[in-house]
Amino acid sequence: MHKIAVVGTGYVGLVTGTCLADFGMDTVCVDINEEKINNLKKGQVPIYEPGLTEMVIRNVQYRRLQFTTDMAEAVNNADVIFIAVGTPPQEDGSADMRYVMAVAEQIATYMNGYKLVINKSTVPVGTGQKVKNVIAQKLKELGKDMEFDVVSNPEFLREGTAIYDFTHPDKVVIGAETEKAKEIMKDVYRVLYLNETPFIYTNIESAEMIKYANNAFLALKISFINEVANLCEKVGASVQQVANAIGKDGRIGSKFLHPGPGYGGSCFPKDTQALAHIGRENGSPMQLVEATIRVNDNQKIKMVQKIEEAMVELQGKKLAVLGLTFKPKTDDMRDAPSLTIIKELAKKGVTLNVYDPIGMHEAKTSLANVESINYCMDEYEAIQDCDGIIIVTEWHQFRNLDLERLKSSMKSPFFFDLRNIYDKQRMNQLGFNYFGVGV
Ligand code: NAD
Repeated sequence: MHKIAVVGTGYVGLVTGTCLADFGMDTVCVDINEEKINNLKKGQVPIYEPGLTEMVIRNVQYRRLQFTTDMAEAVNNADVIFIAVGTPPQEDGSADMRYVMAVAEQIATYMNGYKLVINKSTVPVGTGQKVKNVIAQKLKELGKDMEFDVVSNPEFLREGTAIYDFTHPDKVVIGAETEKAKEIMKDVYRVLYLNETPFIYTNIESAEMIKYANNAFLALKISFINEVANLCEKVGASVQQVANAIGKDGRIGSKFLHPGPGYGGSCFPKDTQALAHIGRENGSPMQLVEATIRVNDNQKIKMVQKIEEAMVELQGKKLAVLGLTFKPKTDDMRDAPSLTIIKELAKKGVTLNVYDPIGMHEAKTSLANVESINYCMDEYEAIQDCDGIIIVTEWHQFRNLDLERLKSSMKSPFFFDLRNIYDKQRMNQLGFNYFGVGV
């Protein structure tokens, strides 16, 4: 049976390692962050991901899952090594490959025999070959003559449903160059293979491109429906009805047609930027992707404009912001639209009462430089005496707010529903000054 090491214990690495252990594989998760590893050893999971803590504890108990900062030991004991470290964006939009390359070099340093090196991080096309070169070069320097293969196996899980997504993927993409590598990948994903998950074998470059193209297309769909929503507002159409109808066309599909304050998170903003950068570098501009990014940046600003136009004067107003994370069921605040909206409103002299069911801790770090924020205990404390409510993230608990209580607690009944979770007509009947997106 193969022994697995997963390097990088973030949203992707920890879920990958834990799910593979749950599939019965002997797995070790490695990270350079000692505090993270020490907490994980005690069963304390550093991220909010539904079901993950229980799964970690269960697999640690069965001794299928271990945690370490010792890369030498991890590489020595494993024959299958996943790289799942971060690839954050740089100033020019390109992905920062420092962490991936550092891990590749370390793998070569500690290699004691054949290793299959699987890149799970989202990386620019050509990275697989670079990883191969780095490992080969280091082995040469060290006078080691050892075989290895590099595989690209991009990850498509979504935060908030990561365990389900990893264990029930729409597809598994494997960019491999040798039969041996493909066979090992089949073994590693045996459970999924037996469940008839589609396995797509490509070369390394195509696998790397699939991940970017996949995310960019989804981002494009969001920017598209956001533009349609903005136009609907001008012409008296309802984007909800439009999206519902066009989504019924099988060629379009109903998913990712929800208008809102723009996409955020650790993937879409960074991956669209990276793909646009790859296009520019290769003299093949990705014009739709560039437009997608611009539309998304504008959408966040448009939300602030919407609020300003409705309330006329923002200086000295107090607004409640419900939902801060980039989407529900995660604590991830990376590039969340709430950050731009809150910062812009604060600049205009607004005091913000903010609340998120899970993301308060992360939000305090991300918004540390913004004064005039009150971090509230719950949604009802946030709305007390405020001049309006902005729903930015559609957590379940915001879908069924006590509207009577809301109205009697607020100074004025402005209600900006940036996720269209309430019915405009009903809200207006109840006396709210309701604004959705494209409705
Ligand atoms: P993350 O920032 O949550 O975690 C990265 C981890 O890598 C951190 O714990 C960090 O300490 C660790 N690390 C960095 N350098 C290391 C080293 N040299 N050795 C060991 N550990 C090291 O990142 P993430 O969100 O899990 O994303 C990882 C990759 O997966 C990225 O390329 C991302 O684009 C991609 N991805 C993310 C998602 C998602 O939803 N978060 C989905 C699909 C793909």
